[in-house]
Amino acid sequence: MVLAQLGGSISRAIQQMSNATIIDEKVLNDCLNEITRALLQSDVQFKLVRDMQTNIKKIRQSRRPRRRSQQAQNYPAGSGKTTTCTKYAYYHQKKGWKPALVCADTFRAGAFDQLKQNATKAKIPFYGSYTESDPVRIAVEGVETFKKENCDLIIVDTSGRHKQEAALFEEMRQVSEATKPDLVIFVMDSSIGQAAFDQAQAFKQSVSVGAVIVTKMDGHAKGGGALSAVAATKSPVIFIGTGEHMDEFEVFDVKPFVSRLLGMGDWSGFMDKIHEVVPMDQQPELLQKLSEGNFTLRIMYEQFQNILKMGPIGPGYYLTTLDFSAELMPKGREKESQAKIKQLDSSNPKLMNDSRIMRIARGSGRQVREVMEMMEEYKRLAKIWSKMKGLKIPKKGEMSALSRNMNA
Ligand code: GDP
Repeated sequence: MVLAQLGGSISRAIQQMSNATIIDEKVLNDCLNEITRALLQSDVQFKLVRDMQTNIKKIRQSRRPRRRSQQAQNYPAGSGKTTTCTKYAYYHQKKGWKPALVCADTFRAGAFDQLKQNATKAKIPFYGSYTESDPVRIAVEGVETFKKENCDLIIVDTSGRHKQEAALFEEMRQVSEATKPDLVIFVMDSSIGQAAFDQAQAFKQSVSVGAVIVTKMDGHAKGGGALSAVAATKSPVIFIGTGEHMDEFEVFDVKPFVSRLLGMGDWSGFMDKIHEVVPMDQQPELLQKLSEGNFTLRIMYEQFQNILKMGPIGPGYYLTTLDFSAELMPKGREKESQAKIKQLDSSNPKLMNDSRIMRIARGSGRQVREVMEMMEEYKRLAKIWSKMKGLKIPKKGEMSALSRNMNA
């Protein structure tokens, strides 16, 4: 089996496994058998393949769902914590866990009803009280009840607001101390913005936050506050909420998140931008060049010019890039300039001071740093656009199909 086929077989086997709703013994064995077959056909030593199988099974054994209790906390109002608790439980239920929900938010009127309603809909056991006002007591009773019922993921929904901030944090500390959760999750609204750092830090000082979930990523907010929350709590973002429904919940994926943060949107957004920015008569030629994997400095220059025509643009470096690439990239001399770019490799600091860069900088009356910034920008865009290589250029009206392709 040639390497490409081997890669394909392994990817297919893993894909099949990740499509399964529940990864049980059979699904895992099917996947391992498929990989084993592919490896043996590729002449991988039998002993190595057998060891790999044994090791994977051992790892799986050691990572079997242990009983866990987790605590979700947020601050201050309507961040989506209760909704997130159910989404989190529902997500794990689909993966074969046996989750349960405890409503320890005794401050917000209606919190228990909301949790009860959602939990009932998802057929997830829940615990709470209309009369008991002590959140610690409810949390402890709920966790004990579900431990006895052999639930392996117990989620405690705690208050997200209070009369006073200090009281809220003290309550969290007490709930945490009494239930000793394996994981405390900070739930934050993506639109919280700059306030995220202080809030997350205040949380971290009271309880030991271990993960962050960002809600309402379906809205307009870019979610930049999540970075602050991550920095303040030193914990990763694990999921994002993308809507009000139970299944609008995704494992956090850094790439689309960063694209959104940088204002790049998704690929369909990109295609929309092409329509918006590039004059109609230039669109077919541009798409043709891009589909040939031909993103040159001249294209970058022309597109920045198009953007400029549209009005004020954001970052100043675009301007630098614009007049720079004009100087670097005289029409008709693309090949020569491309060769120059190939010689520049900013990932190698030795070449950063290369006389070639100095020459370009001198020749255009610019600083070396500016040349490097422009090259970085070019490389970044070239990498993005390289994904278009080999794509069929859409005929009129097929543009939306192309957007779908790029999203896939
Ligand atoms: P809590 O007070 O923090 O427990 O917040 P809730 O769970 O009650 O949510 C407040 C509101 O936000 C409700 O209307 C939810 O339906 C909504 N919500 C929660 N998560 C999301 C989300 O990811 N996207 C959207 N659009 N709405 C959400």
